Amino acid sequence: SVNQQSQPVSGTREEWLEKDRKYVWHHISPHNDHPMIAVSGEGSWITDQEGARYLDAMSGLWCVNVGHGREEIAKSAYEQMKTLAYIPMTQSHEPAILLAEKLNDWLEGPYRIFFSNSGSDANEVAFKIARQFHHQNGQPTRHKFISRHRAYHGNSMGALGATGQAARKIKYEPLGVGFSHVPPPYCYRCPFGKSKDSCGLECAAIYEEVIRWEGPETVAAVIMEPVITGGGMIVPPPDYMRIVQDICQRYGVLFIVDEVICGFGRSGQRFGHQNYGVQPDIVTMAKGMTSAYAPLSATAVRADLYDLFRESGDDSHFRHVNTFGGNPVSCRVALANLEILEQEQLVSRAAVLGRILGEKLEPLLQLPSVGDIRLFGFACGIEMIEPDGSPAKAESVMKVLAHCKQAGILVGKNGDTVPGFANILTLSPPFVTTEEELDLIATSLYNALGSLHDYQN
Ligand code: PMP
Repeated sequence: SVNQQSQPVSGTREEWLEKDRKYVWHHISPHNDHPMIAVSGEGSWITDQEGARYLDAMSGLWCVNVGHGREEIAKSAYEQMKTLAYIPMTQSHEPAILLAEKLNDWLEGPYRIFFSNSGSDANEVAFKIARQFHHQNGQPTRHKFISRHRAYHGNSMGALGATGQAARKIKYEPLGVGFSHVPPPYCYRCPFGKSKDSCGLECAAIYEEVIRWEGPETVAAVIMEPVITGGGMIVPPPDYMRIVQDICQRYGVLFIVDEVICGFGRSGQRFGHQNYGVQPDIVTMAKGMTSAYAPLSATAVRADLYDLFRESGDDSHFRHVNTFGGNPVSCRVALANLEILEQEQLVSRAAVLGRILGEKLEPLLQLPSVGDIRLFGFACGIEMIEPDGSPAKAESVMKVLAHCKQAGILVGKNGDTVPGFANILTLSPPFVTTEEELDLIATSLYNALGSLHDYQN
């Protein structure tokens, strides 16, 4: 097993932590956090340096979809490294060709695939391709992008520009220019003051208004996730995405769908947008493409958009290169990962597990600390509130997370209902999670959220 293969660790946890504190800068974490030092993973579980086991109910950062410790993926990387570890994507190689072909199958193409390293990269590429497309299409003034408040699209200056969460942006501004935001389709506290049953989908119609006010001849593209995941699991009404795509088409605006989290089965379909009957112009993807066994992302561009680049002559090629994007090892890892998803029918399993998880979480709605539970495929957001209905305070959320960790369950926290503060617990377990493990997750959450009520009284 993978656990047996890992190297014995020397030094006490304190010694390791001391070195960690001295040398390592952690991602988006308060400085005094006590990080887990993980040593191995198998299935849905992570083992830390002291031998404690944790159920990885977030699949890392929504990414280890086929679960930890897959030998067949490790072997594919090893074989590819021996055969050809690197060639830049100015050239080509068999794993990239096979993967681009496979992605076309998954996307119900035809799409041209541009490979990069991360979700942020994939979105930057989408923005640059959208702008250049309009240049070549005789509309060079189309440079603006419209995204949503609460969305997250990445950490680089353009992707962060598209992001709609103030706290992630404020100290790094000015960011890429030309990004404006519309309110999200957040039915639980509708930004338009409507209720679910009687609204006119104002959240979708607003795109037309914004495009007109900005000047349609200046708008390049709309970017959205099928559901806002990291911004608090905001699931739109069923017709939302189709209406927005219709508006985009009427105004000559490209429709970019960010599938970095929703793609590769998390939504219960191969891609999140396939739940909503739309065909994006550009699709960006990362995380689940390799289940995070190797860094890789892709920007899939409708073949006829690519044709316009090709037909515009040699000077119109896309002037973008990155050293590691489309690395043969990462592409081979992606192929092995997709083979697992297909052979073990994990996409349909994710859909089933999502429904089961929803049933198991239902009792939580009785608790005064739970306002709403939102599911999309096998991803879930639990909106925490105070007993008076206001968004839960930081101390309540931290207490629940600590309780779950104590019980051996790693739960996520996302949201920004109140700008700068996250009150939505998130779950996105590996697709190999068992029903018993889902019971563990649901029970721990019930106990943690239930104990909070005592604490508040
Ligand atoms: N888009 C979405 C929807 C994401 O959730 C993320 C990362 N969580 C990104 C883009 C950026 O991906 P990365 O961290 O790989 O740059």
